Amino acid sequence: MFARKTIKEVLKEFNSNLEMGLSQKESEIQREKFGFNQLETKKPKSLLSMFFAQLNDILIYILIAAAVISALLGETSDAVIIAIVIVINATVGIIQESKAEKALDALKKLSTPNAVVKRGGEVKEIPSREVVPGDIIIIDAGRYVPCDLRLLETANLKIQESTLTGESVPVDKDATLVLTGDDIPLGDQKNMLFMSTLATYGRGIGIAVSTGMNTEIGKIAKMLDEKVDTETPLQKKLAQLGKFLGIGALFICALMFVVGVLQKRDLFEMLLTSISLAVAAIPEGLPAIVTIVLAMGVQKMIKKNAIVRKLPAVETLGSVNIICSDKTGTLTQNKMTITKFYAGDSLGNIETLNLNDKEQKLLLENLILCNDSTYSENSKTGDPTEIALLVAGAQSDIFKDDLEKKHPRIDEIPFESDRKLMTTVNKYDDEYYVMTKGAIDNLLNICTKAYIKGNIVPITPEIKKDIIAISNNMSDDALRVLGAAYKILKTNHVDIDSLESDLILIGLVGMIDPPRLEVRDSIAICHASGIKTVMITGDHQNTAFAIAKELNITNDSKAVMSGTELDRISDEELNNRIDNIRVFARVSPEHKVKIIKAFKSKGNIVSMTGDGVNDAPSLKIANIGVAMGITGTDVAKGAADMVLMDDNFSTIVAAIKEGRNIFRNIKKTVIFLISCNVGEIIALFFAILLGWASPLRPIHILWVNLITDTLPALALGIDPGDPDVMKYKPRNPKDSLFKNGILSLALNGLLIGILTLAAFIIGAKYYSGDLNLFPLFPKGLKPDALEHAQTMAFVVLSCSQLIHSLNMRNEKKSIFQIGLFSNKYLIGSIILGLMLQIFIITIPPLASAFSVHALSMNDWGFVTILSLMPLILNEIVKMFKRLSSKTLKN
Ligand code: ATP
Repeated sequence: MFARKTIKEVLKEFNSNLEMGLSQKESEIQREKFGFNQLETKKPKSLLSMFFAQLNDILIYILIAAAVISALLGETSDAVIIAIVIVINATVGIIQESKAEKALDALKKLSTPNAVVKRGGEVKEIPSREVVPGDIIIIDAGRYVPCDLRLLETANLKIQESTLTGESVPVDKDATLVLTGDDIPLGDQKNMLFMSTLATYGRGIGIAVSTGMNTEIGKIAKMLDEKVDTETPLQKKLAQLGKFLGIGALFICALMFVVGVLQKRDLFEMLLTSISLAVAAIPEGLPAIVTIVLAMGVQKMIKKNAIVRKLPAVETLGSVNIICSDKTGTLTQNKMTITKFYAGDSLGNIETLNLNDKEQKLLLENLILCNDSTYSENSKTGDPTEIALLVAGAQSDIFKDDLEKKHPRIDEIPFESDRKLMTTVNKYDDEYYVMTKGAIDNLLNICTKAYIKGNIVPITPEIKKDIIAISNNMSDDALRVLGAAYKILKTNHVDIDSLESDLILIGLVGMIDPPRLEVRDSIAICHASGIKTVMITGDHQNTAFAIAKELNITNDSKAVMSGTELDRISDEELNNRIDNIRVFARVSPEHKVKIIKAFKSKGNIVSMTGDGVNDAPSLKIANIGVAMGITGTDVAKGAADMVLMDDNFSTIVAAIKEGRNIFRNIKKTVIFLISCNVGEIIALFFAILLGWASPLRPIHILWVNLITDTLPALALGIDPGDPDVMKYKPRNPKDSLFKNGILSLALNGLLIGILTLAAFIIGAKYYSGDLNLFPLFPKGLKPDALEHAQTMAFVVLSCSQLIHSLNMRNEKKSIFQIGLFSNKYLIGSIILGLMLQIFIITIPPLASAFSVHALSMNDWGFVTILSLMPLILNEIVKMFKRLSSKTLKN
């Protein structure tokens, strides 16, 4: 047990050391020996069990029974075709399922955290799975512990261990402890850290002692195999709808069966027809199609740098009407460069900083020592604000490593966005310097003196006014301002609580962080699509407003509200004013929660960005919590619905656009499937009800279902997005999926049904020689003529559905406007469907298996015209829609 060993013993055991860590070579040897640092997951399901899972459906059972009965009755070809349909259906199901699963797996991999290790003397960030026993690991607030560690150093480190011990309060850790006794409970091992627990505060360094399945969590890894509800609200709604439609379809099929029996039709034929219609008309594939469209959409988003962690987010994204965004790094480039400094009464460009000047030298030393980042020519880790300070130091030939050796850190209070301050205590010969840096307004509150021209003087109101004016001038130029202060302690007996008080102000620095160029365009897009952009930042209001002006978020200084004002006003007043606020400045993470609640109370769908430990609550309550992939902590990523790989605002807008398109595609697919099913039901039900012969044989129905419900439906699901999608207002999430679609669904279903019946009647009349209009359907049809008529109905049913899929691509635009070939998958699946249909009719063995008749040129002419009708009629309707919206606009 490593908790009982001293640091020296543990380091010796792993042949590692704090300064250098393992070399790359040593780490490779360790990996050979111990494998990757990952928990083994469940074994993937076998193909066979996936196949049987697909068959586990009451309708499929009935279909199998029907196939068996057909075979017993000598209808071998029917039995074989039904069997083929079942197998193809199951195969398609498996492909869909595994594709969706793969996409989700890829997502999981992408969002696994990284670890900061020291290898070969250099600090670097690597994927957690590459950590090996013996690695020196650096842990800071917001980071997951990548494996089990024996601590070597700690600075106020607090760890949330609830995943392991159930203890919900973070526990203090201490590297200096060496425990005694046997069987020390995990919760008491204060000098150890355990895999997948979380640092909530402070900093620590440890050595990896066990990885992967050898860790404490690995030993109980089975507990992690929890089942999570992955169904999205839309999937749930669609599953309900599917059930509802299914019951409707079953009812109609049963009714049809009863009518057929009363009409003394062939009992088995009627049973088979009803079952086939039920199988075809019940949209059991709806949730599966939605999953695959969502999963493929998610893949597409990854290419645009947005990782969606929770599938429902894809749906919600399309309805977002307010984007609340951080400033630093999201709207700006996070490429901080110090440009100005002020110390000892002199203000200047950073290049003119003079190390012979005592105040200026102390300013730089303060900013480098009170700093947790690292910077060397080859690598940098940590907060860009702090890295900028190290870069400025390097330019004056002061390097953190050297300086820290001279003035070692003996204590610290980490930076927190609530305090907006950070403090370290460093040894200067026999004295101890308290070095504090942070937001200038917060710093001034705890400074009582200032270091000016070699003297330490009390801060008078005049001095304070001067400093604020200098800082405001920098802020107005969009500079981020950071102040520095210090005090000297005579002993190393540090009272943490009183460190940040009674300080001496040294000076300040201003750094530029240019806005991201592409963000201006994204904000314009948001504006055009009814999405409001709101900046929420910890930075000073002047800096925030200057950037907001540059990015066209607002030009109105009244649209800026500060954190202090937020604290002052009531929830009610905030609700009244919030619609006009575009910039919230100097806010802390708690304010973010208040802001989102106010926006949400007005029915808005809000997306919120965040990166820190304290941002987790606001990320959770926002409709879409967005975490930063580069600068974000593991906690923020864990709480978010989406992670931005590039921390870029424009990525949020791209994701919203994708979300809108995905929703539209799902809508297209669902409406397409249901309208086709309605067509099938109408054709059969009416023919039976009117006492006509059945226009379709059971296997025809199954076949049509197979070629339209699979590929064309999926191809619609991945339709290329409408380039104008960001010109519309956000979708109201309460709107039904069928909004503006139900009429078209019903009419097109009716149309397909009528066209099929028309083909049937035309065939019957033509081949019976009875050309009178009434009776509509000739009586006493010969088997040959019936087969002919059925063949025509069969071809029209399948081809009109295939053609109708083109109509679904856009509600208003003509297929020729959006480009007939712009969805190659759809065109491919239509051509494939048509070809298969033609093969069935023209290749004799297939034709006899499907009991179809060869068609003459005239017949083909008829069925072609009928099958094109949905396209022609829908194009005409769309033309009127476009004309009327044009007149409305005028
Ligand atoms: P955003 O929320 O838009 O990312 P931000 O990054 O500026 O804004 P915070 O990180 O909360 O927000 O920073 C707020 C203020 O705290 C900054 O304006 C700066 O003055 C100060 N600050 C930022 N980082 C540090 C740090 N590492 N040490 C000390 N002070 C800091």
